[in-house]
Amino acid sequence: MDLRFSADQEEFRNQLRQWLERHPPPELPPELSLAEEVRQLRQWQRTLWRGGWVGVHWPREYGGRGGSLGEHYILQEELARARSPELIGRIGVNLVGPTLIAHGTEEQKRRFLLPILTAEEIWCQLFSEPGAGSDLASLRCRAEPAEGGFWVTGEKVWTSYAQFARWGVLLARTAAGKKKTEGITFLIVDMQSSGIEVRPLRQMTGSEEFNQVRFDRVWVPREQVVGEEGRGWHIAQTTLSHERGTSPRQLVIHRILLHEMLSVARRERRADETLSANPLLRQELAQACIEVELFKLFNWRVLSRLQRGETLGAEASVVKLFWSEMSQRMHETAMHLLGPRALLLADPQTFAHGRWARSYLYYRAATIFAGTSEIQRNILAQRVLGLPREPG
Ligand SMILES: Cc1cc2nc3c(=O)[nH]c(=O)nc-3n(C[C@H](O)[C@H](O)[C@H](O)COP(=O)(O)OP(=O)(O)OC[C@H]3O[C@@H](n4cnc5c(N)ncnc54)[C@H](O)[C@@H]3O)c2cc1C
Repeated sequence: MDLRFSADQEEFRNQLRQWLERHPPPELPPELSLAEEVRQLRQWQRTLWRGGWVGVHWPREYGGRGGSLGEHYILQEELARARSPELIGRIGVNLVGPTLIAHGTEEQKRRFLLPILTAEEIWCQLFSEPGAGSDLASLRCRAEPAEGGFWVTGEKVWTSYAQFARWGVLLARTAAGKKKTEGITFLIVDMQSSGIEVRPLRQMTGSEEFNQVRFDRVWVPREQVVGEEGRGWHIAQTTLSHERGTSPRQLVIHRILLHEMLSVARRERRADETLSANPLLRQELAQACIEVELFKLFNWRVLSRLQRGETLGAEASVVKLFWSEMSQRMHETAMHLLGPRALLLADPQTFAHGRWARSYLYYRAATIFAGTSEIQRNILAQRVLGLPREPG
């Protein structure tokens, strides 16, 4: 394991830092409507793209910078350090783009990749269904083959940003297979097609990024199949593999949270003592310090393996499991530090106007998206420890 970045990579970091000083990320106050937030985030992604900071490790011919994984890692770290919000087009940039680069036709790459980087076109991921989340292969959405394309009928759920998406990647059943994973096709769907109904779902954060999406005989032309018809499960594995692995952004976010928590603990007083003198809070803070350090080492180990050209396999599950549960423990400590004020989501008196409390609610989802903690543990139990599969 090599724990140093190269001189070129450090130069890349310096250039990016200087650029971010000249182009500070937007601050998005909590009272902003979701539509306005999305508008500002599109502008921000476009500014980043013009600077050459979106898709740095995508090939140059498709609008990327042809950079290394190490540079991609540094980019995530530096954006988080500058408190840049996440890219609005992240489903496109992180999941759809790499899938099309690996499996798309040349025509699909030419048509779809550039507008993903510029945020001109937002994408959504139409995989989960009311009866198929962890057990995704039991999906029931149908795509009936016809002359020149498919008629899609079914229902998807938890589709982030579907109400703003121009395109979606959809898993649908085109044939019955011997196994559940056979007969699934990976399709690109125009979200403006007739027969699509998008219904936003309100989350406990108060936001409505999620949606329920219904398809009632929606036409998808054959040119919009990715890979081979019926082999969509295999294509979807590429998409899903990009959801786990290193999380430099999460590392920096939690490092910042840790520093903020330590400074609040040293500064604030409750019941005649500074918070940092309270033995229970001291223990929780010490635990958080240990976990952030461990998470850094996990990230570095994964990055150095990927840079050597190795694949990750079950190791991606260790990282996902660790950071998602760490984030929940750390946010609980943040709530303990705030005491009763933790209940206020937008109080000007509360630390950072309720940002900790909103993040606390948001991170409840971290042990669900990109594969739940139970699923990660199953993967580790079976593939790393060699335990038998669960019955049934
Ligand atoms: C913030 C967020 C964004 C998301 N965005 C998208 C998106 O854009 N597109 C999309 O397609 N999906 C999206 N999802 C959906 C996500 O992929 C699913 O929620 C996830 O796969 C879990 O599926 P489920 O919700 O149906 O839960 P279920 O699979 O029904 O699981 C319910 C519970 O049972 C447990 N469980 C299930 N199977 C097993 C097992 N075999 N062994 C042990 N325990 C088990 C689970 O761990 C969980 O605790 C998003 C989810 C979140 C939280």
